[in-house]
Amino acid sequence: MSALEDLLAHERETTALAQVAGRLGWDQETVMPAGAAEQRSEEMAAMEAVLHARRSDPKVGDWLAEASAEDAVGAAQLREIGRAHARATKVPARLASEIARVTSVAQGEWAAARAADDFAGFAPRLAEVVALKREEAAALAGDRTLYDAMLDDYEHGTTAAELDAMFGALRPRLVDLRAAILNGPQPTLPELGRFDEAGQLALASEIAGLFGYDFTRGRIDKAVHPFSSGSGADVRITTRTDPADPFNCLYSTLHEVGHATYEQNIDPDLALTVLGQGASMGVHESQSRLYENQLGRSRAFCGWLHGRLRDRFGDAVPERADTFYALVNRVHAGFIRTEADEVHYNLHVLMRFDLERAMISGDLAVPDLEAAWNERFAADFGAQVDRASNGCLQDVHWSVGLFGYFPTYTIGNLYAGCLFAALKRDLPDLDTDLARGDPGPALLWLRDKVQRNGAVPEPKALIEAATGAAPSAGPLLDYLEAKFGDLYGL
Ligand code: ZN
Repeated sequence: MSALEDLLAHERETTALAQVAGRLGWDQETVMPAGAAEQRSEEMAAMEAVLHARRSDPKVGDWLAEASAEDAVGAAQLREIGRAHARATKVPARLASEIARVTSVAQGEWAAARAADDFAGFAPRLAEVVALKREEAAALAGDRTLYDAMLDDYEHGTTAAELDAMFGALRPRLVDLRAAILNGPQPTLPELGRFDEAGQLALASEIAGLFGYDFTRGRIDKAVHPFSSGSGADVRITTRTDPADPFNCLYSTLHEVGHATYEQNIDPDLALTVLGQGASMGVHESQSRLYENQLGRSRAFCGWLHGRLRDRFGDAVPERADTFYALVNRVHAGFIRTEADEVHYNLHVLMRFDLERAMISGDLAVPDLEAAWNERFAADFGAQVDRASNGCLQDVHWSVGLFGYFPTYTIGNLYAGCLFAALKRDLPDLDTDLARGDPGPALLWLRDKVQRNGAVPEPKALIEAATGAAPSAGPLLDYLEAKFGDLYGL
């Protein structure tokens, strides 16, 4: 066999094992018996050790040095395998296992600290996580900043300086839009009735199928947190229900369906290769946000969905479609990022981006995080944070060492804005289709322009090829101003 064939055969088995490891994670969040937790963490650590050894295997380095690509897909294979190999070899094994150990302890301590609203008690552990992640970034950075090295793990090819430019363009118009909405008259919205769980889950499944989720290669289960996992022929999602709020189940399912159908729609020839997955976290989030918001919360689709909700839940749902549309798009300031509306969401992320960069650069000492968070929140959102679980302890990310991850949420929203503008330009009948409950043409457009390509193109190049322009904040802002200007009579 040639070096390239040897390399790809080795990589295929590594990717298959990574899928198995991912499925252990899915199992842990859905059906694993509670008493299995300790054994499971040992099982997962053993899988991680195998994966790390395969990725850092010196044979991979030799094959990479010898192999040459014959086409664009081959070149992308070598690029991605080389990237994973470089990462696995640059980080000392001792440091990698120390990070795994400390973040696993920290995640449990974070949950306890959040329940007790005790940031001060958690700060020493968080400082330890930050120190380890800085050490890891230093091993990877080369001539880049530590933060850019971290960002590269989730959104390859994007730097903090680029994000400063895009986020800097986003922020002032978002702040103005938010102020105009909240300073104006607020709609009076009705109380909702109760919604049985079976009805919610049945409707969520119906909507998942409508948006192209293939149940022969996937399944929906209940979990505390909605998520999507897996690639290729086995892509699973989870959801949750709240009897007083059926929209949480519906829209979080639709969000995960965006992630999952992206994976399902990747060219089957790429399955079980390093390219058989989404192009980046940001591109992934662009798909989920498009399904959830630009399509799922559009006035046209809400008209159709309102009819289905009335069929299933009767008078528990407001009588008028307009009222339903206003309800699922209500703009309200709140402490919690995951509950934020489309106007507030990115302001939450921008704040985290600035604070985590300051922690990584050393400008912000970890024990001072809570005060810095609360001060920034008051300035951006006009409210005093009342407790740490509503403030700097609300998200799990930092406790498990995810620095450089938050900005990919806003990158995803910006990409979604760019893609949606191009999609509307190409599909003049979009609203007519959505109004009769048919997202099909929009889904085909996304499959063709984005999803089928997997990780062959780099993220920014993928968006530029799909839309005809480099990614920018303008299209998302235009969309938000038009939608909420209309809804709030601005
Ligand atoms: Zn998501």
